[in-house]
Amino acid sequence: VVKLENAYKAFGGTPVLQGISIEVCPGEVVAIIGPSGGGKSTLLRCMTLLETLDQGSLTYGDIDVVIPGADGSAVYGTSDTLALARQRFGLVFQQFNLFPHMTVMRNIIDAPLVVQGRDRAEVERQARALIQDMGLEGCEEKVPYQLSGGQRQRASIARALCMNPQVLFFDEPTSALDPELTGEVLKVLRQLAAEDITMIVVTHEMSFAREVADRVVFIDEGCVVEEGSAEQVIGNPSEERTREFLLRSL
Ligand code: ATP
Ligand code: MG
Repeated sequence: VVKLENAYKAFGGTPVLQGISIEVCPGEVVAIIGPSGGGKSTLLRCMTLLETLDQGSLTYGDIDVVIPGADGSAVYGTSDTLALARQRFGLVFQQFNLFPHMTVMRNIIDAPLVVQGRDRAEVERQARALIQDMGLEGCEEKVPYQLSGGQRQRASIARALCMNPQVLFFDEPTSALDPELTGEVLKVLRQLAAEDITMIVVTHEMSFAREVADRVVFIDEGCVVEEGSAEQVIGNPSEERTREFLLRSL
């Protein structure tokens, strides 16, 4: 589904991504773990076109979003190409995903109506089903400040899903939540994993990664240090840096 190759990114001369490659196949759940400042959010932001790569290539299925130019620098596709690619993924951050002045229902249906130009009745039907799946019955007409953090995050996930993305990106979706609300959101993520939704999840929740991820990628200093099954990377890491990180994050 998504393939990023040899990605480089620097901020003001400081390298942040140093030749990262990552591929996600349909139905796969990939967990990205690693120390703070290692480049995880930057990686997700580059993959979701919120930040531009300096070098590398990025494809969404048959869409070439970024190709390497003759001098190696990243060459982006046309705005039409980028707009097509944007339809293929959804993104959920720690917080501030929802429009504060819109109801939950409006938040969910806005982009499918406005960006995708879909039929209103069909979108509302899907939104109601998602509200049910996410355990948000009764919240349809509430605005974000009237929701708990966990409800807000589940509404954000419903909003992303209503675009029918081929892949969902999550950047620490639970790190702004207390343990109980974290549990609610992780339950929803488990449910999505069981439905074979393709996901890339940056997380500090090692037990969650271990349980749900088909593959774990450990990133430090802008590089993939180690990658493999959860059992291998979290259970029995082969790199010293991974071991140190896991010991510190217990
Ligand atoms: P955390 O686990 O704390 O979220 P992270 O792995 O997501 O960390 P990033 O947010 O990707 O790390 O940051 C990687 C490095 O890039 C950091 O040193 C950060 O200060 C720097 N950085 C990120 N965004 C920018 C920016 N817009 N301008 C300048 N530097 C940035
Ligand atoms: Mg981050």
